[in-house]
Amino acid sequence: MYTLPEKLKNMTPYEPNMENYPIRLDANESFLDLVPKVHNAILQALAKVSLRRYPDPTAKEVCELYGAYYGVDPRYITACNGSDEMLALLVNAFLEKDEKLCVIEPDFSMYRFYAEVTGVEVVAVQKGEDFRIDPDEVVQTLRQTGARMLLFSNPCNPTSLGLNREAVRHIITSTDALVVLDEAYMDFWDQSLLNEAAQYDNLIILRTCSKVMGLAGLRLGFAVANDRLTGIIRTVKSPYNVNALTQAAAAAAFKIPKFIDVAIQLINESRNDLYLNLKQIQPSRGFTLFETCTNFVTVRSNYCARAFEELKEQGILVRNFGSFLRITAGLPEQNLKIVSVLQKTI
Ligand SMILES: *Cc1c(COP(=O)(O)O)cnc(C)c1O
Repeated sequence: MYTLPEKLKNMTPYEPNMENYPIRLDANESFLDLVPKVHNAILQALAKVSLRRYPDPTAKEVCELYGAYYGVDPRYITACNGSDEMLALLVNAFLEKDEKLCVIEPDFSMYRFYAEVTGVEVVAVQKGEDFRIDPDEVVQTLRQTGARMLLFSNPCNPTSLGLNREAVRHIITSTDALVVLDEAYMDFWDQSLLNEAAQYDNLIILRTCSKVMGLAGLRLGFAVANDRLTGIIRTVKSPYNVNALTQAAAAAAFKIPKFIDVAIQLINESRNDLYLNLKQIQPSRGFTLFETCTNFVTVRSNYCARAFEELKEQGILVRNFGSFLRITAGLPEQNLKIVSVLQKTI
């Protein structure tokens, strides 16, 4: 009889809510539809793709265009099938079986998930009530546990908080561990280390097209690191990881980069409106609205369950973490609806 590996026996699947809600603000997707010009450019590019052939294993054009937009030399960039693919790959490839991954929780739940699949031990630094990261505590934990990789999101999903550049540099330069810095939400803030990634011998930055660009369905992300680390990443990734349709569509979109600038502005405006309106709610016992440098807001409350259910009643799905809610910024009228529900329930 076949017995499962021990590490797989107690795993629970990542189960996004698949129920139908008219307004979905639970996954931090962009609330903007692609502008017609970009949408049409993508459709035209897709029509020309030959599916008989394998895609470009280096996703050269996509990496060049992405690098041009962010001011990063494409030799430091590797494309991937969503940053999720890269997360799984890095945890799998850059850690030996007996080595530890350090995370700072609460953070993106997939970090722990991929560590479990790989069978590496996780050490977690717990954030306090204020959800802030203490860089010195992180450095100390790395030292004490000998963890070989630190993986965290900045700005953080689900706390919506950011750690400034100086603090992140401090962590990177104070440890020999590999730092994997997930900048999935950095388009909404201005503290990226993208332009100096290649200066560090222990830094890999992850970026995604799933958030600000409104291309979550394409499954495209990037790893940015110095030559040595990039060489390894390219060696260990599966050769044809980014499919031809995704490459063609992304290249077409990146040739009209203005749509990204516009999206950043519109989403940040919506996020600010949502934040400022929620700020009007009288702070009560157990209610906290966290600062945000992402496309979502995080609120702590003793009444999350009630608010969550009432939002669902109104056709709005957000993400309930039990002691706090994570709400993606939406269209103005959606934000107003959320504020009025929270006013009554929280
Ligand atoms: C959304 C998100 C990602 C993006 O994942 P993709 O696989 O690129 O869609 C990565 N990290 C964090 C923290 C996220 O919230």
